[in-house]
Amino acid sequence: MELLHSGKVRDVYADGDDLILVASDRVSVYDVVLPTPIPDKGKILTRLSLWWFEQLADVVPNHVISATDVPEEWAGRAVRCQRLTMLPVEWIARGYLAGLGLKEYQKQGTVSGVELPEGLVEASKLPEPIFTPTTKATEGHDEFITFADVVEEIGQETADRLRTVTLDVYKRGAEIAAERGIIIADTKLEFGRAADGTLILADEVLTSDSSRFWPADDWQPGRPQHAFDKQFVRDWSSTVTDWDRTPPGPEIPDEIVEATRARYIEVYERITGKTWEA
Ligand code: ATP
Ligand code: MG
Repeated sequence: MELLHSGKVRDVYADGDDLILVASDRVSVYDVVLPTPIPDKGKILTRLSLWWFEQLADVVPNHVISATDVPEEWAGRAVRCQRLTMLPVEWIARGYLAGLGLKEYQKQGTVSGVELPEGLVEASKLPEPIFTPTTKATEGHDEFITFADVVEEIGQETADRLRTVTLDVYKRGAEIAAERGIIIADTKLEFGRAADGTLILADEVLTSDSSRFWPADDWQPGRPQHAFDKQFVRDWSSTVTDWDRTPPGPEIPDEIVEATRARYIEVYERITGKTWEA
């Protein structure tokens, strides 16, 4: 199979007309992939993403062809999907203020051209979830664009429809997660077009690599929130004083690996209501 692309955490292969998305056990902190894998992370996030695609099937069609018809060596952490022409936009919905959204708000009071009320702080809940698209930069950092930019890029009809779908996916996901004590602060979706023009939800959906998950019982606006599953790795990495947050990252100690793996499983079990079996 031809390796088309190797991301920080996943690899993408072509198999005839299909794509195989393979999730690894790699974990990144401050955008740096650490040398120590988290066992089963790839399988856990793959299964979570598949579960969400199913939950969302009445909202939008998705690219999944099969989670089992994949090469044996990647079993459980690979998805065979329909190869699409991807739209050059990252479709982001935010229900809380964090990350780049927070930075943009602090600079100018808006995110992607959406006006927000004054006086919001880090991790504030927004009055309504907002759509904050960014470019899909092939190099460097993604940049916020306005809805008008999206319209210009792909046309009014597609932009309208996918903005609605993005917010619907976020609201549905956030509602389900909230019932299980997890805040989904924001999420990034990707859409592509099939040969017949149909718009299809692609990539991964509502995983902690594409979204911010926070424990609801620990939510407190005005300070940084803990990432539900990566919390241990991040906290530990901030104690590694001789690491300047550029590659190569430090090896993760065993007990941090184990605690982190347990959190990934906890997120999966809480959200899906299923018991994790490797
Ligand atoms: P990062 O590590 O920051 O996520 P990345 O986005 O380049 O970097 P991946 O997310 O691993 O790395 O790459 C997955 C790639 O596959 C993305 O470019 C995504 O747009 C693309 N993709 C996902 N689903 C499909 C699909 N159905 N058809 C075509 N391309 C797809
Ligand atoms: Mg990606």
